[in-house]
Amino acid sequence: MLERLFQDVNPGVARILDAALDGKELSTADAATLLRVRGADLQALQRAADLARKEDVGDDISFVVCRNINFTNICYVGCSFCGFARHKNDAAADAYDRSMEEILEKCGDAVARGASEVCIQGGIHPNKDHTHYHEILTTIHSAFPQLHIHAYSPEEVDFAHRKSGMELDDYFRWMMEAGLGSMPGTAAEILDDEVREILSPRKLTVARWEEIVRTAHSVGLPSTSTLMYGHIETPEHIANHIALLRDIQKDTGGITEFVPLGFIHEKNMLYNVLGSRPGASMSEDLRLIAVSRLMLRPWITNIQVSWVKMGAKLAQVAMNSGANDFGGSLMEESISRESGADHGENMPAEEFRRLIRELGRVPVERNTTYGVLARFEDPALDPASLEPERRIELAGPARQRDRDPMGRDAPASAPVLAAG
Ligand code: SF4
Repeated sequence: MLERLFQDVNPGVARILDAALDGKELSTADAATLLRVRGADLQALQRAADLARKEDVGDDISFVVCRNINFTNICYVGCSFCGFARHKNDAAADAYDRSMEEILEKCGDAVARGASEVCIQGGIHPNKDHTHYHEILTTIHSAFPQLHIHAYSPEEVDFAHRKSGMELDDYFRWMMEAGLGSMPGTAAEILDDEVREILSPRKLTVARWEEIVRTAHSVGLPSTSTLMYGHIETPEHIANHIALLRDIQKDTGGITEFVPLGFIHEKNMLYNVLGSRPGASMSEDLRLIAVSRLMLRPWITNIQVSWVKMGAKLAQVAMNSGANDFGGSLMEESISRESGADHGENMPAEEFRRLIRELGRVPVERNTTYGVLARFEDPALDPASLEPERRIELAGPARQRDRDPMGRDAPASAPVLAAG
């Protein structure tokens, strides 16, 4: 019967999947082949990646309660895919540069809502320098020492470090003393200089991105890793990008996770003026999750979905295609929203748990570096995610209303559905 299920799979694809499941390292050519599969081959890829996920990290699905804080949207780098940046003269419109009081207020709100992490990133404001980045850290860390500060993309590090006149490793140590806990591996987009020349000619080069990430790891500062897809890149660009991340990880061990980020096309130049593709299809989203699981094992074992870009339902499908982490609650999100994403800005912990339970898996709240903060083994902790029959039973007599949902008198013994 299983043979019948997979009889349509291309033998070449089957060989690559077999090798990956046997622990052999995928070449970039193998990955590029898998990044083009469709139909039965795609289903086999998803199944193989799901099996690899189970072997690598088990059935738990993690999430982190965190708050994004973008401290300024003023930026002069001019990336063609960005709908977030403003110029200073847009002040009459919606350019902003948050004060330390405003940043602290947002941190206080994050703590009150159960956050273990704040993620701090901003535009490249030409009038700021390294002291501003440092002051944000000292201000937050002295007021909320319990918060993990995940901050400053390699682009921001490049800008502030060049102004500092310090050696790069000393710069990182100075930031870590001020409270920096980890670095977002953003500003990666596609790690290919020819592609970067089109996407954002003023942004840091691949060599500088790699230097910054490797130096951060060398002084004990971990980072995430990302990739932006669905615009002008080819499967070969993606395969080379993931291979570079794998090489860095083999040397440093400093990458905590890989997060593929689908391009949001609606409100930026890359699509509207330069004519890129309008973001990834659903199949591309799932292929990328699955290929990254198979290509990065055993070096990077946490593959995260971006629910902001994919939406919660496709993110659930991705959890059966190689992913094991749902990302962060965010609480506020402007970068994707201002490019046209419409999947919301806040995902409360209860909603993560419901989505994970629906998959029959166990929700785990983690910290930034994948330490377990709470494992919610017992399904009764999340009654809203139980099957309908059980919810009726749970609602019981104590929760019966005097009137039914139509406003009529309800019989005394009638069951009432729990909110779900
Ligand atoms: S992506 Fe970042 S660096 Fe590029 S324009 Fe937007 S805010 Fe500036």
